Amino acid sequence: MSDLLVNLNSEQLQAVSLPPQHALILAGAGSGKTRVLTTRIAWLIQTGQVEPSGVLAVTFTNKAAREMLARLSAMLPINTRGMWVGTFHGLANRLLRAHWRDANLPQLFQILDSADQLAAIKRLLKALNVDDEKFPPRELQHFINGQKEAGLRAHAVEAWDDYTRRRVELYQEYEAQCQREGVVDFAELLLRSYELLERHEPLRRHYQSRFRHILVDEFQDTNRLQYRWLRQFADEGREGAAAMFCVGDDDQSIYRFRGADVGNMRDFEREFRVANVIRLEQNYRSHGNILDAANAIIRNNANRLGKNLWTEQGEGEPIRVFEGYADVDEARWVVEEIGQLVRDGMSRSDIALLYRSNAQSRVLEHQLFSSGIPYRVYGGLRFFERQEVKHALAYLRLIANPDDDTSFARVVNFPTRGIGARSQEALTDAARTFNASLYSTVPHLSGKPGAVLAGFVRLIEDLRRDTAKLPLPELVDHVLDTSGLRAHYRNEKEGQDRLENLDELVSAAANFLAEIGPPEDPDADHALLADFLAHASLEAGDHQAEAGADAVQLMTVHSAKGLEFDVVFATGLEEGLFPHENSLLETDGLEEERRLMYVAVTRARERLYLSFAQSRMLHGQSRYNLKSRFLEEIPETLLKWLTPQRAATMPGNTYFRPSAASPAAAPPPRRRDDGGLRVGQLVGHARFGQGVIVATEGAGSDARVQVNFGAAGVKWLLLSVAKLEVA
Ligand code: ATP
Ligand code: MG
Repeated sequence: MSDLLVNLNSEQLQAVSLPPQHALILAGAGSGKTRVLTTRIAWLIQTGQVEPSGVLAVTFTNKAAREMLARLSAMLPINTRGMWVGTFHGLANRLLRAHWRDANLPQLFQILDSADQLAAIKRLLKALNVDDEKFPPRELQHFINGQKEAGLRAHAVEAWDDYTRRRVELYQEYEAQCQREGVVDFAELLLRSYELLERHEPLRRHYQSRFRHILVDEFQDTNRLQYRWLRQFADEGREGAAAMFCVGDDDQSIYRFRGADVGNMRDFEREFRVANVIRLEQNYRSHGNILDAANAIIRNNANRLGKNLWTEQGEGEPIRVFEGYADVDEARWVVEEIGQLVRDGMSRSDIALLYRSNAQSRVLEHQLFSSGIPYRVYGGLRFFERQEVKHALAYLRLIANPDDDTSFARVVNFPTRGIGARSQEALTDAARTFNASLYSTVPHLSGKPGAVLAGFVRLIEDLRRDTAKLPLPELVDHVLDTSGLRAHYRNEKEGQDRLENLDELVSAAANFLAEIGPPEDPDADHALLADFLAHASLEAGDHQAEAGADAVQLMTVHSAKGLEFDVVFATGLEEGLFPHENSLLETDGLEEERRLMYVAVTRARERLYLSFAQSRMLHGQSRYNLKSRFLEEIPETLLKWLTPQRAATMPGNTYFRPSAASPAAAPPPRRRDDGGLRVGQLVGHARFGQGVIVATEGAGSDARVQVNFGAAGVKWLLLSVAKLEVA
């Protein structure tokens, strides 16, 4: 037996050494799917059943593709460079590069990433004089990509109403612009290569006879166009065509919200008349307790193909559970625990911190950074580097210093306010002539540029004046609204994440304030704004460990798919967060969240920590959450509580002090009692003076009141932030 095969169990062995027939490997997490797929490639080549050039293998991320190539070159004395192993986008790109002429592209066509694509769409709308309020660019981008992913060119889209007809025209114009400029967006890569093969029969035949084996990892998360793209190479499964070898796990299907379709697994079985369906049930990754927890969780999903995992490894350690008082305590505890693990000899890169949404990373990053622990964030920018956060910071910087030209240029027309490239150029030229900042040059500009730019300067001046006396979090909040940033992202199809990050900036300001205490001179205008901005740029600086350095790994659960770590911290296990509140409204939403939880738990090899906090500053509000139902789904016998377990209580009713043994124990935060505030009550505010409450909203730390301050106006105030005195 080939030494490639010696370490495989019998089902794995069967899968790896199948004859060249279509096969579906349907198996749970950590059962060796990826290993089987990689080993099969090596085995086919080693035994001379296929040339390296006859293999087409698709993985989900670049990281996974790189790992697969690395493993292959370790198993085989071949140069893997000629092999077609990569992501869908990577492989489509390769195909188009090889056949650019037939694909009707310039030889050096450029690829637009999503931000470039958006910029291109904006330019198009401007050139065509299209009202971008009626046709928001982001929405148009979503529309165009959606059509492309459905395999539809503009002429093939059915439009029943004028609005859609106009969008289709713009789609057409966009295509023409890209073609003229020789650029290709992500969705185009796949569609263009699909069409190329469909149209060009000799080419299709060439690849159909070249690729003898097509192997697909994470098959449960392919979308329709990807499936059709694959099918083309396999000649629709006809006699003598390439063998399709797909591995997947329906329990780990976590991209349905993006159009991935588990139905592809069933279609594949049917359309290719798959005779070999192999299930792997032995898990090699995780210790018993971890696996039992994963099984217990996923069992609650009704919609499953059904399988159970077992392991030969012992039960291992219990799963450690930590309940923090607040998110900051949770983060502090995580970091202390990591410190201990590292002192005990663990590599930082064997430790992963997982969270449900990107916005949650900020608190963790902050604690890691303050403790000097190197870390890396995967599959997402660090908080202060995110586009929307940078936009917001640019407004704040202009308030602090209007002569900051970079910030000026960044947001002068963001959100779009009709300040076109020509006006901006005129301004830049004049500023150069005057040798002055952009901001200070505006009043010297005449004509249309002068007029439109004056509007922006007025906005900044208003912001400066209106926020001068506001506490930092209220200042940030005000800027987000008045600048139009919130409204802008609210109108975006996929702006939810960005909105949450903006709200998170308000939390960051509140935390910053809590950390450094009141300003030295509370009467100074914009007290602490400059300090906060310095803090933001420091944290955004180059503190993230370099690639390859031994660093703690931070990522969302989505980006952890397929990976494994000795130690995993799954944090923020709270109702509303994980499961995410949005999921509760959608069919299959909760089940998709549960699959995500299953992915999170099954990343751990040896030790799993699950944690949650009673209160969390998120999206600009502190919220009191119950612990996640997913925690409740794990049998108590598998758990070891690091903090005393509370009886279930309503959120906000009871305060739990972590025991003295828990180092992260934190005193309850200063909390203003919001009880008793009622409509009609008189209150005092340091800046706005005396007012009367006209409305109340929310509860606990979410509580907001609307106060009429007479001459100072009617304001909504967040009770946890605003200092209100009861008269
Ligand atoms: P996921 O669903 O999370 O992608 P997977 O099914 O692809 O998981 P792999 O990543 O291939 O699982 O394997 C999980 C771990 O188990 C890896 O470290 C792999 O090397 C190991 N493993 C798999 N099969 C065996 C085996 N027969 N003997 C020893 N270790 C194995
Ligand atoms: Mg895998």
